[in-house]
Amino acid sequence: MKKKYQHIFFDLDRTLWDLEKNSEQALFELYHYYRLVEYGITDFNAFIKNFNQINHSLWKMYSLGKITKEELRLQRFNKLLILYSVQHFALAKSLGEAYTQHTPNKPHLCPFAKEVLEHLYPKYALHIITNGFKEVQHIKLSKSGIAKYFQKIILSEIAGYNKPHMEIFRYAFQETNATPENSIMIGDDEDADIIGAKNAGIDQIYFNPSEKKTNSEATYQICCLSEIKNLL
Ligand SMILES: [Mg+2]
Repeated sequence: MKKKYQHIFFDLDRTLWDLEKNSEQALFELYHYYRLVEYGITDFNAFIKNFNQINHSLWKMYSLGKITKEELRLQRFNKLLILYSVQHFALAKSLGEAYTQHTPNKPHLCPFAKEVLEHLYPKYALHIITNGFKEVQHIKLSKSGIAKYFQKIILSEIAGYNKPHMEIFRYAFQETNATPENSIMIGDDEDADIIGAKNAGIDQIYFNPSEKKTNSEATYQICCLSEIKNLL
């Protein structure tokens, strides 16, 4: 028999909100506004690729508590410029601030995100659990037009713990009156979302659009959000 879920917890970045696309659009604008080509950064695609790599490794350090949010925001551009032999701290600072300000205002969602939320919204209590920064996650939700679907937004900075720590899930249960038995977590990050939820005793849907190799044995695995309609 199908399990009766009442609460659905969604991750936000890369699960519903298309982080790559939104980030790329913001970087494209910054690239032109700050005339980065004049600093010898001539290949925009390589620029994006380098940014993503640096950002990814800094995010890892941030989630392990090794650097602060402010260091992450500044260093991702400082390191990027240094890669191009540009020593310009003030430029890195301006880029960091502009990126943080512009990216959350971009509205792009992952394919089928809105359709799936429309489908689920009448039947379940929907919530977000995110490790993203508290001052931008609400902007992303409202600018992309999906804030109305969610009852509770669980932010790791408020909970005091990042996914996959079990305490953030415990905090989420408290906030929503959900239980592990009547909840399911949907996310794209195998460690944070899937293993985190599994350790907290919740079923999981692993959204794996690039079909990465996996060891976590999620309750369900999908490569397109539209598949959720068949599961829930
Ligand atoms: Mg994510």
